[in-house]
Amino acid sequence: MARAYETVIGLEVHAQLKTATKLFCGCPTDYGAAPNTQVCPVCLGLPGALPVPNERAMELAAIAGLALGCDVRSESRFDRKNYFYPDLSKGYQISQFEHPLNLGGHLTFLVGDQEKTVGLTRIHVEEDAAKNLHGAGGGAATVVDFNRGGTPLIEIVSEPDLRSAVEAEAYLRKLRDVLMFLGVNDGNLEEGSFRCDANVSVRPVGQEEFGTRTEIKNINSFKFVRQAIDYEVSRQVGVLESGGRVVQETRGWNDVTGKTFSQRSKEDAHDYRYFPDPDLPPIVFGAERIEALRKAAPKLPEQLRAEWTSEWGLTPYDAEVLTGHPAIAAYFGEVAGALDAGGREPRAEAGKRAANFIQAEVLRDVKTSGLDATFSVPAADVAELLSRVQAGTLTGKQGKQVFSEMASSGEGAEAVIARLGVQAPISDTGALEGDIRAIIAANPAQHEQYKAGKTKVLGFFVGQVMRVTKGAADPATVNALLERLLQE
Ligand SMILES: [Zn+2]
Repeated sequence: MARAYETVIGLEVHAQLKTATKLFCGCPTDYGAAPNTQVCPVCLGLPGALPVPNERAMELAAIAGLALGCDVRSESRFDRKNYFYPDLSKGYQISQFEHPLNLGGHLTFLVGDQEKTVGLTRIHVEEDAAKNLHGAGGGAATVVDFNRGGTPLIEIVSEPDLRSAVEAEAYLRKLRDVLMFLGVNDGNLEEGSFRCDANVSVRPVGQEEFGTRTEIKNINSFKFVRQAIDYEVSRQVGVLESGGRVVQETRGWNDVTGKTFSQRSKEDAHDYRYFPDPDLPPIVFGAERIEALRKAAPKLPEQLRAEWTSEWGLTPYDAEVLTGHPAIAAYFGEVAGALDAGGREPRAEAGKRAANFIQAEVLRDVKTSGLDATFSVPAADVAELLSRVQAGTLTGKQGKQVFSEMASSGEGAEAVIARLGVQAPISDTGALEGDIRAIIAANPAQHEQYKAGKTKVLGFFVGQVMRVTKGAADPATVNALLERLLQE
C-alpha cells in the first residue's frame, strides 16, 4: 500500500533592488538596453577595478528587512563566492554569506481564508550575474550580455515551512506585494526582476527528518512555480515508491514539457570557498539610520486597508481593490486626501466618494507594468472634479460625463465644463416646479398609473425631467418634487 507523504518547501527569492545604478559601480540598471552598453571595468570584472557599495541599494535592502521583521544588523559584510561560469567574468560573485544584512524575519499571508506565517532565515544582498544569450543571431554561438552583471539583488531565504505548491504561490504573491509597496522591487516577473528557486523534498507523514531535497532554479512565473513544485513532488514520491533514492541536485523547469529536469548535482556550500572581499569595508548601519528608515518606509497594503476601512469609510472589498497596485493606492490616497482637506463632508464620506468614483470610472482604463501605472486623468484633476460634485456645482452624473470627456481630450475639468456648456445643477425648487408640472400635464396616462399605485413610473418622470434640464437637475430635489406633485 502506498504511503502518505508530506511536502516540504523552502523558497529563495531573488528580487532586484530598485536602484538607478548597479551595486558596485555607476552603470545604469535600465532593462532592455542593447547588449553590453551598460558596462564598465568594475561590472565587467577587469583586473584592478575597485567596487564601491551603492548606499541606496543597502538602504532598500534594510527597508525590506525592517518590513519583514528581520533583525537588521548594524554591521554586515560582503564575501566572494568563488566559482567559474561564463556569465561571471571575475570568477567570483560578491555576496553576503556569514554576515548578512538581515537575519530572521517572517511573512504572514492568506492561503484561501487561512492565515499562514513562514519564517525567514535571512535576507542578504548580492550582485546579479551577467546573462548568457544562447543561439544569439540564430547561430550556434552564445553571447554574454553584461548589462545585468552587477545589478543589486536581495535574496530572501525562507525556512522550510511551506507544505504545498499552493502555499508557495500565495507566499510569493504576498512577498512581491510587500516589496512593490515598499518601492524596493518592481515585481516584474517577465523581466526577471523577481524570480525564485524552490527547494523541494518529501517525507513519509510522521517522519521528523527531512527527505533529500532538490532545488528547482530560476522560476519566473507564479503558475510555473506551482506546476514545477507539483511535478517535482510527484516525481520524488514516484522515485521513493519504486524503491529508489532521491538525488540531491539542481533541476531546471521546462514549461513546454511541464517537467523538471536534472541540471547538475548540488555543490556543497563550502565548495565556493567564501572569504571576505578585501576591496569592500563592512557595511555599517547605525541605530539612528535604521530608525529613520523604519519611519520613512511606505505603508504596506494591509496597513492601508486597515486605515481605509476604519477611517475612510471603505468596505474591505473596496480597500482590497484599491490596494491592488501601489500606484492605484497612491492615486486613491491623493484624491481622497484632497476631498477630505476641502472639509465639506466627513472623512468617511470623502473616502467613499473617491473610492466609488475611482472604481467605477478611473480603473477601467488603467494599465500597469511593474511599478508603473498609466491613468487617463491625473489624480489631482479627478480630485478637482470631485470637489465640484462635493460642492454641489456638478451632479454626480455630470461629473461622470465631464470625466469621460477629460479622459478622451486631456483637458482639465474647468475647460471641459466651459466647452460643453455644462449647467450648474438646478436645485432651486421654484425653477424646477414649472418644468415638472408641464411634464406631468403632458403625460396623463403615466400620471394615472402612478396614482393607481404603479410607483415604478417615477423613473419615467425622472428621466423626462433630466432630459428637459439636460441632466442639470439635482436628483434629490427632482425626486422630492415629483413625489409631491404626482399626488396632486
Ligand atoms: Zn559598471
